[in-house]
Amino acid sequence: MGFDLERFVGYVNEGLLCCVCRDVLERPLQAPCEHAYCSACISSWLLHHHSCPEDRQPLDVGSLKPLYRYMRNDLNRLQIRCVNAGQGCEVVCSLENLHTHEDECEFAFISCSNTGGEYICYYCGCPVQVERRGLEAHLSECNFRSRECPNGCGHTLLSMDQSQHNCVAELRTEVELLRAEMLCKVEEVRREMESRLDSQRRHMVQKESQLKNEVEELKGQLSRVMCDMRALLGAERLRRQELAEAELEKRELLELLRDLPTRMGERARKGGTRSLTLDCIKRKSREVTVI
Ligand SMILES: [Zn+2]
Ligand SMILES: [Zn+2]
Ligand SMILES: [Zn+2]
Ligand SMILES: [Zn+2]
Ligand SMILES: [Zn+2]
Repeated sequence: MGFDLERFVGYVNEGLLCCVCRDVLERPLQAPCEHAYCSACISSWLLHHHSCPEDRQPLDVGSLKPLYRYMRNDLNRLQIRCVNAGQGCEVVCSLENLHTHEDECEFAFISCSNTGGEYICYYCGCPVQVERRGLEAHLSECNFRSRECPNGCGHTLLSMDQSQHNCVAELRTEVELLRAEMLCKVEEVRREMESRLDSQRRHMVQKESQLKNEVEELKGQLSRVMCDMRALLGAERLRRQELAEAELEKRELLELLRDLPTRMGERARKGGTRSLTLDCIKRKSREVTVI
């Protein structure tokens, strides 16, 4: 949308008017057919058309160009009244300088800068709109101006809340909130510890049953070993017994040998069986050696 023609002081060349809105060009663009438009006007026109609104020649966004420089200079030099003329601003300036002036125009309506104390929120701030020149006066009585509590409780108060402010009550609420928060945290920690203990307990039970199994296994092995040992001891005892018997037999044989000459004498006298007895002795002594 362009600038209202009525705001201009002096003659405005018709070539500086937008072909869509018929006001003075604002952020102008130019088509290859040399017709010019405000950039907002031609953008919305081309959403539904594909031609110049003035002469119906084909046109698309890509072929739009900046205005000729001499036209831009003419446009910038036009003299225009401030948009706040209705509120009393009498400033007339070149179109080029209009934004600079309007950004600091004393007659412009602006929003109060108080945002609602410590909670910065667009909706709960001061809704008042004042002329820039009246802002200071408004701020001194604005309901949303804030300051620290004069009694030192540390709260920031909006002036409209100050009469109802009670330091003790505020602090008590705060303490209660903190206490609730802490209880919550303690409960959380307790639950976590319990779950950790639980898992450790489960682990221990598992370990215990594992150990029991191992002990049972070892007991089995031990009893097998004992059994083997008993068998070995039995065998050993048997061997000793046999040895003792063999020893006994040996001694008997030795005695027999010692007495032999005497007996031989007797036998010689009786005659006969000497060779038989000798064979018998030899066989016996061989048996003893084997054992
Ligand atoms: Zn326009
Ligand atoms: Zn055209
Ligand atoms: Zn102004
Ligand atoms: Zn305010
Ligand atoms: Zn206080």
